[in-house]
Amino acid sequence: MHSDQGKARRLNFTKRMHPLRAAGLALGALCVAVSLYEDGVVTPWLWMALAFSGLLWPHVAYLLARNSAASVKAEYRNLLIDAAQGGFWIAAMAFDTLPSVLLAIILMMNQIIVGGRRFAARSLALLGAVCLLASAALGFRFDPVTTYPTLLACLPMLVVLPLVIGGSSRSLGQKTLQQKKLLEKTSRFDAATGLLNRQQWLFAARSEFDRFLRAGRPAVLMMIDIDSFKQINDGYGHTVGDLVIEEFARLMKACLRDIDSGGRYGGDEFCVIMPETRWEEAIVAAERLRRQVASYEFPQPGLRCTISVGLAEINPTIASVNDWVVVADAALYAAKARGRDCIEVARLPAALQVG
Ligand code: GH3
Ligand code: MG
Repeated sequence: MHSDQGKARRLNFTKRMHPLRAAGLALGALCVAVSLYEDGVVTPWLWMALAFSGLLWPHVAYLLARNSAASVKAEYRNLLIDAAQGGFWIAAMAFDTLPSVLLAIILMMNQIIVGGRRFAARSLALLGAVCLLASAALGFRFDPVTTYPTLLACLPMLVVLPLVIGGSSRSLGQKTLQQKKLLEKTSRFDAATGLLNRQQWLFAARSEFDRFLRAGRPAVLMMIDIDSFKQINDGYGHTVGDLVIEEFARLMKACLRDIDSGGRYGGDEFCVIMPETRWEEAIVAAERLRRQVASYEFPQPGLRCTISVGLAEINPTIASVNDWVVVADAALYAAKARGRDCIEVARLPAALQVG
């Protein structure tokens, strides 16, 4: 399956290269054709070679890469052939400045984008070597002056090039942004349970704490820990332990309201922020969850799971989110000390108690 995906990706790369190479080389061939014509170089074999280079080669290159078992490698080979052809045509144009520079730049840009700087340097060396050899074979002609018709023939390339680069860097930028968003989303959640991870949950807790400071709205922080979870791991194995955690998270999510934020604090410890809630209401939700977990029938014979819960309602003596967690944690450990499978509520400071 993975190799199928890899193959699809490689073919996709070859497919993307095809129209770009076809358009780029056709426009390049136009510059070369006018330069050769202006230069009076009209040998039939050269025209045929140019027609092959500019019109036929991109499709041959595509077929070669598509039918190759190692299509990316074939695509790199094609790029080297592009560079070699570029070298030949620069020599054939007797180093006509504008089309020569344009050809070399476009080829090298493509090589850098696809193969990186080192690959581009290799291609440039090949382009230079072929250019020298071809120039020698054609009698070392050097005529760098660009005529006006050749300049006009170079214009389509000069216009199209920045637009293509602009368009592709924009779509690359958008893709990167999408990937970043996906990464942010996946890294916000605990992979095993789908609950918020500790850091993200702490963000939610902090914003609720700030809301209390701003508007004095009530909220409850609930810490939950699976009882004697080590024994479950020891008795049934870690895999079953993991399943128990997943099942518990599912039950917990089902008990939460939309406005509650449930997270995995770490290991077998979970946490919930309940906005707009007094401890008397939170205790009802916690008791419902405690009962559901205690009566849950796991497929493994004899496997039972219970939880202990500590609740802390926000109040003015709590100075920070950290404090709030410490207070709820203390209640949780009081529940553990009381014998587990029960709920403890952090006591309000005496000054705040009614009656
Ligand atoms: P207590 O009632 O006092 O909470 O007892 P306990 O055995 O649950 O003790 P504690 O909470 O300290 O231990 C939790 C254990 O859970 C320790 C760790 O090895 C195990 N654990 C933590 N995360 C995972 C996990 O993702 N999967 C599994 N299978 N085990 C985990
Ligand atoms: Mg535990």
